Amino acid sequence: MSAIHTLLGHLDRAKQTKPGSWAAACPCCQSRLGRPVLVTETNDGRVLMHAFCGCETKTVLDAIGLTFTDLFDAPLTFHASPTKARFSARDLLEVISKEMSVVAVIASDLLARRAISVEDWARLALATQRIGVARDYVR
Ligand SMILES: [Zn+2]
Repeated sequence: MSAIHTLLGHLDRAKQTKPGSWAAACPCCQSRLGRPVLVTETNDGRVLMHAFCGCETKTVLDAIGLTFTDLFDAPLTFHASPTKARFSARDLLEVISKEMSVVAVIASDLLARRAISVEDWARLALATQRIGVARDYVR
């Protein structure tokens, strides 16, 4: 079973909100304030989860008997791209640098315990996906 299906199978009231994204009730607080747990599957099979209710991700995972490693289909490995690189290392570093800036801005909001929007969460998932794609171009 894939990581996303394992996770969704442990969450109550999981509902797909768009391709690759779901909202579910938090197993810790049942999302009583109407703030769900959002789950996103990236194109490379990684699963991202954020509890908008404010519960810690580890606490949510503990509540359903899963661990962070359950969010990955396979152990993360570094491998050469099967395709010929079409971008220079500088181009790839530019992409990674820009995406890391996005991650840093959203992470600073999280650190300051400011609420992040569903759109911010989707942008964070996109940044993670783009960094993964850039990584796959590197030999
Ligand atoms: Zn919660």
